[in-house]
Parts: sequence; C-alpha cells; structure tokens
Amino acid sequence: METENEKDYVVVIQCDRAMNQVCAGFQCEWAFSARRDAFARYPANTPEKSVRYLSMSCGGCPGRAVTRKLVNVAKGLKKREGRGSESVAVHLASCVTRSNHHGPRCPHIDAIKRQAALAGFPDVIEDSRISPMAEQRRAEGAYAAPLSH
Ligand code: SF4
Repeated sequence: METENEKDYVVVIQCDRAMNQVCAGFQCEWAFSARRDAFARYPANTPEKSVRYLSMSCGGCPGRAVTRKLVNVAKGLKKREGRGSESVAVHLASCVTRSNHHGPRCPHIDAIKRQAALAGFPDVIEDSRISPMAEQRRAEGAYAAPLSH
C-alpha cells in the first residue's frame, strides 16, 4: 500500500443531501489546498509533484452511486494516464462522517466503504475539513436531530 506521501490524487465523497441543498464543497477544497485538518497528511505541492483533487457526491441514500463513480475514476486514470487506483486516496467528507446541520453521521458509512473496496479502493479515510465551530456545536449536542429521509 502506498503512503500518503506517494498518493497523488485525493477523491472526496460528499453527502448528497448536503451537496444538493447547500454545500459547493468549498470548505473541503480550501482545507485540502491549505493541507489542514484531514488533509494535513499530504505533502505540499512542488514543481515536481502535486496532489490533485476531485470531489463527488455519494449520489444519495444509501450511497450506491459510489461504486459506479469510483469505477469511473479508476477507468479514467487507467485509460488516460496508465495508472492504478493505488495512487488515489479516498476521503469521506466530514458532512458524511460527523453530525452537522444537514443531519447526523451517515448511517451507511460501512456500506459505502464496502462499495469503495468493490471499486478497487479498499482504504477509505474518514473526514475532510473539520470546522472548530462545528466541533463545538457537536460537543454541545446541537446536531443530534435524526435524518428526515
Ligand atoms: S446520509 Fe449517507 S448515504 Fe445518505 S446522502 Fe448522505 S452520505 Fe449519502
């Protein structure tokens, strides 16, 4: 398995519920560009090597589109660049992994991880941007409401 230093592609899976209704994914891309929060593990870009970034939604509950989308990524990498999925790190965004104003932690995370493995991405990393304000609200129990779907 390649280490974070050897990954050169980060794919972030966002909650479709959040992405469809409010979130453009800016905070996650910002955190990635700044190499902070869950992205602090990746080296800064250099003229010799840069880490690329792609975000996508899970496709809606229960996240069955994840397999198709990741297979699409794997095929594209193979066809266009002759590379395998081992160079890719898949993250589940914090809107998936943590309770927030969109809803609680996704109840389908284990299934989504299994789907990622089916597509050839067995190592899925939890979290992306981690907002201190949201962390405080979580600690206060402000995001305990169940999903309405
Ligand atoms: S709750 Fe989970 S499966 Fe449903 S839309 Fe959000 S991330 Fe996808």
